[in-house]
Amino acid sequence: MNLEIVRLHLAHIKSFNDIPVHGFVIKHPRAGAILVDSGVGWGDEDLIREWKVVNRHAADALAEHDLSPADVKIVINSHLHFDHCGQNAVFKHAPFYVQRGELDRARKSGDTIQWFDFAGARFELLDGDAEIADGVRVVATPGHTSGHQSVLVDTADGSAVMIGDAAYTADIYAQAGDADLSKWPGQHENREQWTHSIERLHGLHPHAVHFCHDARVV
Ligand SMILES: [Zn+2]
Repeated sequence: MNLEIVRLHLAHIKSFNDIPVHGFVIKHPRAGAILVDSGVGWGDEDLIREWKVVNRHAADALAEHDLSPADVKIVINSHLHFDHCGQNAVFKHAPFYVQRGELDRARKSGDTIQWFDFAGARFELLDGDAEIADGVRVVATPGHTSGHQSVLVDTADGSAVMIGDAAYTADIYAQAGDADLSKWPGQHENREQWTHSIERLHGLHPHAVHFCHDARVV
């Protein structure tokens, strides 16, 4: 498949190393637009102030690419931290593909639960690797959270990975277990699983890796 990937700039988190927050759209000829992660959104003013978030509406980011929220037929959440599912409610009409273990974890933690677990939210729960559409699959990459997943897409140049938070930056991805994480608290909840997940992604030899929090593509 020659699928096209479009990057959306959805927010900036100033108080955490001034990182961008990206979502991605996979333009799929049959399944429609598939959104990977939905940014921060406006669900909690205290949180937005605390993290110094500069937010953007997903609809505005999509419009730059001649897309509207209604074009998005499927949402994949890499995981359910606030900066990856914050605008899920904009896409109420779409199913949310998440790992079953991630939804359990996030519900138990209770953090920003209203951002993803609102009335009418329709989850498609996954247990490990799964094909979402022709040329689009998720691979389980636990470690950042226990139910984290990354997305693998067939493009004209080869396979591309949308890595989610399995690695915050290109350097962390390249250095994996040897990376200096002193500036990056929260990179892993479980270090052993996390290292294993990055090694697994390396082993897939992707042509391109796209990051949620780094503008570089490697
Ligand atoms: Zn995260």
